[in-house]
Amino acid sequence: MSVTTRAACVIGWPIKHSRSPLIHNHWIERYGLEAVYRLEAVEPENLAAFVSHLAERGYAGANVTIPHKEKVLALSEPDDRAQAVGAANTLWYDRGRLYSTNTDVEGFTANLDAAVPGWELRAGEAVVLGAGGSARAVVYGLIERDIRKICVVNRTPERSEALRARFGPAVEPVNWAALPHVLARAGLLVNCTSLGMTGQPSLEIDLGPLPTHAVVADLVYAPLETGLLAAARARGLATADGLGMLLHQAVRGFQLWFGLRPEVTAELRAIVEADLAP
Ligand code: NAP
Repeated sequence: MSVTTRAACVIGWPIKHSRSPLIHNHWIERYGLEAVYRLEAVEPENLAAFVSHLAERGYAGANVTIPHKEKVLALSEPDDRAQAVGAANTLWYDRGRLYSTNTDVEGFTANLDAAVPGWELRAGEAVVLGAGGSARAVVYGLIERDIRKICVVNRTPERSEALRARFGPAVEPVNWAALPHVLARAGLLVNCTSLGMTGQPSLEIDLGPLPTHAVVADLVYAPLETGLLAAARARGLATADGLGMLLHQAVRGFQLWFGLRPEVTAELRAIVEADLAP
């Protein structure tokens, strides 16, 4: 590595499963940059020491994944999105100060923009399934895009109540039994649970009540075609998949570290798709 090589990494524990190196190293090669992106396995007890010496380790910044996304807020200067979501996944230096943001917010909305242009005009009311970390990013992204009513349906009601407390009256906690009623009014349905993911129970939901103009998005990307997306397509509904969000959330970090806004292309998608194939 020469002295001019710029470097970034993804910090997590465990970290081997991360697709981030595949995405960023593809862009590094495609744009002919003298740069490198690495995996860094960092145990929770070593996080503070690692992050506070990121620059000394040669890094211009980093992605942060499970289980460090919340803890990293206190180790950096979070922007509005990271603060609102309560978690950060991207770190970068600006004039010697370490900042953090949450790019799942724009990953979600940019993917919808690419897959279903004008989706927010159809959305009206949105229904979000789940109330974990990704649901917080999605709800915040919907609020940023002026969606006025977001029904949050979650197995543990306390967590959907917590989303209302965090984001205010645009969020309406709803129980699973009332799902058919809220679906009948929804223009957008988003799965932010882990249901439907390989190794997890399937997501059992009847899309029948959704209006024909509704858009269905799934954050789960393994498998790529989830049962939810297959059912939505079978009904002729517009869809946006989890892989698209994963690719779009990577754009901002790359730009912050390497100074160039990369493109999410069909070629990149095919590379990550092949890697995800069972
Ligand atoms: P999380 O914080 O652990 O939240 C998991 C959510 O799933 C919770 O709402 C949980 O409900 C619900 N859930 C889990 N098992 C359930 C079950 N058996 N029945 C009903 N609800 C259940 O996880 P997360 O970080 O939000 O991630 C959720 C999914 O999104 C994962 O599949 C992840 O891979 C995916 N994701 C994708 C992207 C992307 O870029 N495409 C980004 C982030 C996350 P309770 O609150 O009741 O436990």
